[in-house]
Amino acid sequence: MRKHHIVLYNPRAPFFTMPLALIAVGSALDRSRYEVTLVDGRLEPDPVARVLDATDGALCLGVSVLTGIPIRDALGVTRAVRARHPRCRIVWGGWHPSLFPRETLNEAGVDAVVVGQGEEAFADLVERFAAGRTGQDGRDGQEGEDGENGRDATGVIARRPARDINDFPEHDYGLIAVERYFALKRERQLDYTTSQGCRFRCTFCADPTVYGRAWSGLEPARVATELDRLWHRHHFTDVGFQDETFFTHANRVGAIAEEILGRDLHFTWMATMRGDQGARLDEHVLLACRHAGLRRVMIGLESGSQQMLDWMKKDLKVEQVFVTAEKCRRHGIAVLCNLIVGFPDEPPESVAATLDAAKALRALGPDFQVALFYYRPYPGTPITDALARRGHPLPRSLDEWAAIEESTSHSPWVDAGKRALIDRFSFYQRIGWARPDAWRVPLQAIARWRCRRDVYAFPIEKTIVEWVRQVRA
Ligand code: SF4
Repeated sequence: MRKHHIVLYNPRAPFFTMPLALIAVGSALDRSRYEVTLVDGRLEPDPVARVLDATDGALCLGVSVLTGIPIRDALGVTRAVRARHPRCRIVWGGWHPSLFPRETLNEAGVDAVVVGQGEEAFADLVERFAAGRTGQDGRDGQEGEDGENGRDATGVIARRPARDINDFPEHDYGLIAVERYFALKRERQLDYTTSQGCRFRCTFCADPTVYGRAWSGLEPARVATELDRLWHRHHFTDVGFQDETFFTHANRVGAIAEEILGRDLHFTWMATMRGDQGARLDEHVLLACRHAGLRRVMIGLESGSQQMLDWMKKDLKVEQVFVTAEKCRRHGIAVLCNLIVGFPDEPPESVAATLDAAKALRALGPDFQVALFYYRPYPGTPITDALARRGHPLPRSLDEWAAIEESTSHSPWVDAGKRALIDRFSFYQRIGWARPDAWRVPLQAIARWRCRRDVYAFPIEKTIVEWVRQVRA
């Protein structure tokens, strides 16, 4: 029997994480009946031409779409396929379509949208397309209830109740050119996810909306078995665990570490950790993780102001992050802390508290890094919804959401003076607490002095460094 051809497309984006969501969706299809091709726009010199070629005669094109830059690329590919291959069904899934299914269906090229967890919902749609059906169960003009497909005025909205991810098959990394990602990342780092969703409720984050605060994690033995197989096949040296919150269950994490140790697998790894999880984590579990290769954790502190953390329902104490950082320091584990400034109406004292927290973390050593971001009103979050109610202008169409990173490169709640302070601090903290380098010692001393005293006037060093970088480029 001739197999139906399914093409999955990952749009261009400014990072090179492996397309794990599409690998999951492609792996969940019945491969005895469907031939799956995964095209990653980031690896293609001409993504539109590549997808047009791949979708010639294909039953369906599935596109995974994040808010921002990837939307523009996804739109270009979708419109081209719709024009060239009108019989190919086009399905969008991922974060943005999950938050805006109806708006996504306003795009003429999109036949269906998968909301939330995609493995089962996409497989079901494909089955229906293969049987010559439209994909709908509900009546025209009605959106389906949870657990069934429905039809909006213009297309199908497919959603399924979230399943435990242990029910799904092993991810088939044969769908991607693993070596190409190693080359782009400049390290043999495999991306892998052991869990899906998050139980927390941070009001700047869309995860609770998309996954309904549900969480499920793979059994530790399965994680180790799969990594064992992948390690022998791809010879990676590092794993980036891309879970939203890898350390959700300490016992499970400890068991994963023991499995890695027991199988004598030799690679390092990094993972996401909440500050409260790290503070509670048993030292023995952290030590087992260290022995099993844990080299760095990524922690979202978000703000140095407890008032702001409480406002955004982070359910975290600032001190917990420092307790975690100190534990990591004892065990030789690096920490990357994410911080956000410029929340709506954020007072200057809060921004100052965030910069103070950044300095305190950096002072722990060169392995303690911070990444400072400006707040952007991403969709599907309570903060953005509140802004909309206040009349703050938000993007409406897909084209407008595609431009959100350009139109809000800096938070409108940060004035020019504060912005200069933050930008200069970001520059000086990077240099000041970087690993010592004989050539940079004087510059590092000046940078640390500036940060400690918040003296950023006449940033001559910044101008020189930026000039040198430009000349070298
Ligand atoms: S920011 Fe992190 S901890 Fe908070 S809801 Fe989102 S994924 Fe969960």
